[in-house]
Amino acid sequence: MQTIQVKDKKFVLSIPEKEILEQVARVAAEINRDYAGQEPVFLAVLNGSFIFAADLLREITLPSQISFVKLASYDGVSTTGKIREVLGLNIDITGRPVIIVEDIVDTGLTMAHMLETLEGHNPSSIAICTLLLKPEKLKVKLDVKYRCLEIPNDFIVGYGLDYDQYGRNTRDIYTIEK
Ligand code: 5GP
Repeated sequence: MQTIQVKDKKFVLSIPEKEILEQVARVAAEINRDYAGQEPVFLAVLNGSFIFAADLLREITLPSQISFVKLASYDGVSTTGKIREVLGLNIDITGRPVIIVEDIVDTGLTMAHMLETLEGHNPSSIAICTLLLKPEKLKVKLDVKYRCLEIPNDFIVGYGLDYDQYGRNTRDIYTIEK
């Protein structure tokens, strides 16, 4: 079995590029069908989704726009104590259908915060599209409409996902060796 070393950890091949691309194409076809006649705005969440977003967008046949965003969260004066802001949002999403492109949904907290923040911009709809989902780890109720692959709880790298910012540049996805 193929293994790679990323810094101090060993990872084992778990999802080959061919399988990833098949699932990306399947999800893109679902989006093309569901959003026929509309012009969605894709919001790709940096850093981990950059390769997924590139492959997904090239399968999208709809007139569409994409923005690469980051969710910033800092302490401040608000009712919840945290101020959240979407950085890099350079398209007006008011009244537009939005599709969030995420690398992996783990506890779901990042996506829950992202949804809450984006709702303040009054889009006509928001859907989540993730490359990977760890269903056993979901802590919040979240509607993940588009998902390419579901995986177990183990830590993975590759195809854009990192371990300490390394390992994003592999074509396949690898799971940490136990
Ligand atoms: P959540 O808020 O859903 O718990 O976390 C989502 C974020 O955690 C992802 O966008 C990703 O950056 C990171 N993450 C969660 N699981 C993994 C994993 O197995 N590998 C890597 N590289 N990042 C992960």
